[in-house]
Amino acid sequence: MQAVDYIVVGQGLAGSAVAVQLLQRKKRIVVIDQPAGNSSSRIAAGLFNPITGKKMTKTWLADALFPYLHEYYPAVEARTARKFFFPMPLYRPFLSIEEQNEWMARSAEPGYGPYIDTIHQRPAIPGIHDPWGGLMLRQCGYLDTTAYIEAVRGWITEAGTLLEETFDPTRLQVSPAGVQYGAYTALGIIFCQGVAAARGFEWLPVKPLKGETIRIKTGFQHNAIINRGVYLVPGAGPGERRVGATYDFHDSTPTTTPAARETLDQKLKELVVFPYDITGQDWGFRPTVPDRRPLVGIHPELPSMAVFTGLGTKGVSLSPYFSEVLIRRLENHTPLNKEIDIERYKSLY
Ligand SMILES: Cc1cc2nc3c(=O)[nH]c(=O)nc-3n(C[C@H](O)[C@H](O)[C@H](O)COP(=O)(O)OP(=O)(O)OC[C@H]3O[C@@H](n4cnc5c(N)ncnc54)[C@H](O)[C@@H]3O)c2cc1C
Repeated sequence: MQAVDYIVVGQGLAGSAVAVQLLQRKKRIVVIDQPAGNSSSRIAAGLFNPITGKKMTKTWLADALFPYLHEYYPAVEARTARKFFFPMPLYRPFLSIEEQNEWMARSAEPGYGPYIDTIHQRPAIPGIHDPWGGLMLRQCGYLDTTAYIEAVRGWITEAGTLLEETFDPTRLQVSPAGVQYGAYTALGIIFCQGVAAARGFEWLPVKPLKGETIRIKTGFQHNAIINRGVYLVPGAGPGERRVGATYDFHDSTPTTTPAARETLDQKLKELVVFPYDITGQDWGFRPTVPDRRPLVGIHPELPSMAVFTGLGTKGVSLSPYFSEVLIRRLENHTPLNKEIDIERYKSLY
């Protein structure tokens, strides 16, 4: 039997951040992850943006989440000697002169200042359809999610144990004092399985939301993310961009669809005037929650079991901050914010 502090199940964005928090605290960990090519974290475009939605409002907790992620990812880059965090401005063309005026006014509102770089009143980026100019935001960028997950995987292998296998719930024994899984005993187990139902937490309302993106090849070179209707984020190779994403609660097919490709292609044509070739397409399922808040917490009856999922469309910005919140709850008994605590869904248990 080998004694460790924690077992972590799943190593997408949620499990990676939990593993990082634990390794930074010198905890002994075992991570069990069977990578799936289409896990949400591996196919995500990796965009982070503090001002989002059709109405372009500041996202929930932006003032806490964004400073945190801008420290967290560079610290993991430094520790792993890998590059995966790319801060860059985000440009959003205006659709009308009224919208331009609205943003001129809003830029004076307290709270928006740290996120607004420039309000362009004239076309600003060649190749983009922006007759009324647009809004250049700061504190945005993208994470190369696959490179990040692989970097964290290397760190886990070096400082802990990685079991590249499917978690088998029948091998888990749980007691109030801890858990045993195969040859390992631990003080606790943390389930970070995305849309997959976690043992003991099947009652949580995680709803898979299918998303698709396309990859394009283009000569467009501007060093900004472009976002209006669809986003345009740098991809893996030279000239490659990721374009996304679709949102479909009704489609549960594990594959790409011609309809999504057409929708994305159409929206892209409204946004850009440069030529491009579509070179690929990806799909995945986001773990969403009806109240659009993460699911963080401890099992109602088994205190050695915890869960971290429900990151929805914002795993890149939510996972660093809330992984620390969870570890502080487990290690220091710091109470969880009621908005994210799974206690809010206890009536479903
Ligand atoms: C098309 C698309 C685009 C997106 N774009 C963005 C974006 O630009 N920015 C952003 O912030 N977010 C984006 N997201 C959302 C983001 O991907 C999710 O919020 C996030 O990845 C969820 O991470 P997770 O770790 O909870 O789940 P997952 O990524 O699903 O990770 C779960 C891990 O657990 C493993 N696992 C599950 N069950 C088991 C088991 N029984 N045994 C072993 N291993 C197991 C899985 O294989 C996987 O590795 C996008 C999502 C999609 C689908």
